[in-house]
Amino acid sequence: MPKCPKCGAEVDKPIKVWVLAPKGRKGVKIGLYKCPNGHYFRAKAE
Ligand SMILES: [Zn+2]
Repeated sequence: MPKCPKCGAEVDKPIKVWVLAPKGRKGVKIGLYKCPNGHYFRAKAE
């Protein structure tokens, strides 16, 4: 589960998910998360 880099809270579901796919590489899913304390951060989504 991704953790907020500012306060360490764990967030289970991203607000938004997109695929980051550099040319010739397999894409990586990136999620935009919002922690309970109102911080937004990006992390790899499972
Ligand atoms: Zn936070």
